[in-house]
Amino acid sequence: MTFADTGKEFRAGTKLTLLGRNPEDQSGFANAPLYKGSTIIYKTLDDFENLRSRFYYGTAGSPTIANLEDAWTELTGAAGTVLSPSGLGSIALALLSFSKAGDHILITDSTYEPTRLFSTRFLAKYGVEAEYYDPLIGADIEKLVRPNTSIIFLESPGSQTLEVQDVPAIAKVAQKHNIITIIDNTWATPVFFRPHDHGIDVTIEAGTKYLGGHSDMLLGLTTANQKCWPKLRQTYDAMAMLPGAEDCQLALRGMRSLAVRLRDIQYKSVALAKMLQNRPEVETVLHPALESCPGHKIWKRDFKGCTGVFSIVLKDGIERNDIERMLNNMKIFGMGLSWGGYESLIVPFQAKRIRTATKFGYESLTLRLQVGLEDLADLEMDLQAGLDRLNFKRKAKL
Ligand SMILES: *Cc1c(COP(=O)(O)O)cnc(C)c1O
Repeated sequence: MTFADTGKEFRAGTKLTLLGRNPEDQSGFANAPLYKGSTIIYKTLDDFENLRSRFYYGTAGSPTIANLEDAWTELTGAAGTVLSPSGLGSIALALLSFSKAGDHILITDSTYEPTRLFSTRFLAKYGVEAEYYDPLIGADIEKLVRPNTSIIFLESPGSQTLEVQDVPAIAKVAQKHNIITIIDNTWATPVFFRPHDHGIDVTIEAGTKYLGGHSDMLLGLTTANQKCWPKLRQTYDAMAMLPGAEDCQLALRGMRSLAVRLRDIQYKSVALAKMLQNRPEVETVLHPALESCPGHKIWKRDFKGCTGVFSIVLKDGIERNDIERMLNNMKIFGMGLSWGGYESLIVPFQAKRIRTATKFGYESLTLRLQVGLEDLADLEMDLQAGLDRLNFKRKAKL
């Protein structure tokens, strides 16, 4: 039994520390060395002719890549994992693996915008038609199924607007019609939600976010269940789009502290969401752990926790120049894309602009927050002062 195998009996937090390394093979060192390379050397002609080794060439992976793949497979309860140079790369890989010319695919209207752009700018050229659906559709998705529907793509909670989807209900419809389900699980990570346990075929994690955890790398992880694994791996091998070894090593390092970071982020994200809910400038808080979030009950039923990305809708009457005053003077919250790093971020977004199947219910300005590893009291202070700069009460009186 290897050291990694012993990890299988333990809970997620413990597994995160045990998996993806094997000190027995590493001269006793706690961490695995970094493998980089293209060429694998064979000792005999027979070995060469039969490519007798786990890796036959750099594009087939390396021990560094395999350590992360194997760990992620175990954490997600999948049959296998492949790694891509970015989260978007994983999304492209999954969509390409399970669609062909003439297919119809269903994508949640709440999805991460580049997923939508990949479908409209790329898949459409190859004769795949994407249709968008209401993230809260649940079992009614059956009404949108066509004879040529090959994929239902989910993202739960949705990017920016945070609707939590009824994953088991959608997976059940998909299974009945032999449709492949793919979910972008970046928000929850397998620590808080394991989609394969809820009937999903393929999962995507932008490792760039919480797994890396330090805003210093890009990575995507795609997993599949037994049914979908051969096809996913086959497409992957045909394209050979691998991440760099250093980024895999950073992901393995990030993995060790994933559960600890998420625990800290969870408590602060709930505390900040509740604080914001009580501010006069805030119309509503879109946070899966709060009742005001569409799909909150499903989150409670299916998820083990919540992470640190959520949104707020501001009251009507707050204008761009007010927001500018707020955001330009934040002391901790930076303005930047991406999330999942150690630093807190805040960015305005326009859900209305992106949607096509449903209408985002609010006209006023919206902000997306990412809670980092700073102290709660400092984050609270920064947000309170920022909202004070909107001068909303004074404006309302005029
Ligand atoms: C960031 C993100 C991605 C893409 O990850 P990259 O590594 O930045 O390409 C995919 N899905 C979601 C939900 C994301 O937030």
